[in-house]
Amino acid sequence: MASSKKKKKVCVVGAGVAGLGAARELLREGHAVTVMEQSDGVGGQWLYDPATDAGDPLGVAGAHSSIYASLRLNTPREAIGFSDFPFYPNKDGTGDARRYPCHGEFLRYIRDFCEAFGLMDAVRLNTKVLRVAMAQPDHDGGNLRWVVTYEGEEVGTMAEEVFDAVVVAVGQYTQPRLPTINGMDKWSRRQLHSHSYRVPDTFKDQVVVIVGSATRAARTSPSTSARWRGRCTSASSPPPAASPPACQRRCPTTTTCTCNPRSIACARTGGWCLPTAPASSPTPSSTARGEQSSAYMLGRTMTAPFTIDHIQHRYDYSFPFLDTAGAITVDDNRVGPLYEHTFPPALAPSLSFVSVTKLVVVPRFFEAQARWVAQVLSGRRSLPPPEEMLRSVEEYHRAREVAGVPKRHTHSIAFDWDYCDEFGDKYCEFPRLEEWKKELIWSSIRSTLDHPESCRDDYHDSDLVLEGLRSKGWLTGRAPATQDGEERAPNPQTHL
Ligand SMILES: Cc1cc2nc3c(=O)[nH]c(=O)nc-3n(C[C@H](O)[C@H](O)[C@H](O)COP(=O)(O)OP(=O)(O)OC[C@H]3O[C@@H](n4cnc5c(N)ncnc54)[C@H](O)[C@@H]3O)c2cc1C
Repeated sequence: MASSKKKKKVCVVGAGVAGLGAARELLREGHAVTVMEQSDGVGGQWLYDPATDAGDPLGVAGAHSSIYASLRLNTPREAIGFSDFPFYPNKDGTGDARRYPCHGEFLRYIRDFCEAFGLMDAVRLNTKVLRVAMAQPDHDGGNLRWVVTYEGEEVGTMAEEVFDAVVVAVGQYTQPRLPTINGMDKWSRRQLHSHSYRVPDTFKDQVVVIVGSATRAARTSPSTSARWRGRCTSASSPPPAASPPACQRRCPTTTTCTCNPRSIACARTGGWCLPTAPASSPTPSSTARGEQSSAYMLGRTMTAPFTIDHIQHRYDYSFPFLDTAGAITVDDNRVGPLYEHTFPPALAPSLSFVSVTKLVVVPRFFEAQARWVAQVLSGRRSLPPPEEMLRSVEEYHRAREVAGVPKRHTHSIAFDWDYCDEFGDKYCEFPRLEEWKKELIWSSIRSTLDHPESCRDDYHDSDLVLEGLRSKGWLTGRAPATQDGEERAPNPQTHL
């Protein structure tokens, strides 16, 4: 590790948890940081926006957030959040203290995080990044720098600023990815992507078909609202009761589960065996026939009154502002090439990405990526030569292909704890995730699959989890005394 640190002028694009976590890591490392955020507040997805994409129910352009009004977190609060800033409920009893709280509670936590670490000084709200392009080289041909063009508070006012580095943290759940369904273009009734769903009112007394992942579809389902009186069904998987149970043990990491052939490929779950649709279940090879207002799904025809809703819960990566002369592409949701999902070899380290990975503990993994970026920029750590990084990316892609993982899942880490822990060890001395948190997350995923309706309010913790909760003050309501562990009471003075 090199010793003398260099201070860089860094632009972070986006003030969601990834961008804010990045800002903190960069500030800690001594860099000068500007976070540009297009919205009028921090929080990204968690900044609930009641307006959907006006006139565009498939939501291809418009609002950033995909959060709907009744959304509760699907991850236990004790296991997520920034690594040293636990997502404790408010001490004064206000807010939502539940393990799986409503979305507003997470926004409150993100704002508290900003305040605790003095991040708002670095954040420019209402600042939309329009273009990020390479700057002309210095007369001495120095390091690659970037010109950031942005629209400021006053719409229509554009400005440019040159930075030594840009960290892209714009999230991944804004650009809906639409499926191909026969007859979709002729469907005369409503079609909606979940990105544009907010409240159930307009579906009252209608039959709704939800096309997409069983768990997320079940969560989004308007039937969870007391005001909903229609009928919902999911087209990509059977009702939860028909799913085979999770085998509750770890399998060798292969693409097909050795203990339950009906289970999700172990490579996608970090080796854990989880249930998925029975072998006989049709995938969304659905046919929508608009004229008759009927749809063929789950092996049967359904008729009007009928609304196809929530067509898929998938999203595409989108970086419309990036002008890298082809050095970065998005191909079937593979952003690349990206060394360790973070650095494009040809443009590293001055350009980096911190929120591309999926199925990681958020924002923890993003924080680790950002810490690595910050340390590489300061010269504390170095990267392999570009050709070596490129070779490594190609090997990774090949390995995934051999394992049968579709290209679009390139950045899915599938809660592979070994990968995440080793990433932290290897690149930035980021603390490993405690075992009790890993178990809590898996038990939460398992119960979401087994009991989607009740899992958030009816859960039972193992002894390991209970001990972990106790040791971190979750059961007593009091944070433990500061120790040399990963979680400490925040103190802006010592942290920045
Ligand atoms: C419906 C839904 C439910 C979810 N539930 C959970 C959950 O229960 N638990 C969990 O851990 N995760 C959940 N997630 C995942 C969630 O997205 C991540 O937890 C996290 O919010 C991602 O943070 P991010 O900073 O990467 O992206 P975002 O939160 O999307 O933030 C990106 C930011 O970049 C800004 N931005 C984008 N483009 C520009 C630009 N050109 N210029 C300036 N600013 C720009 C945006 O305005 C935004 O503020 C959920 C996601 C969705 C969609």
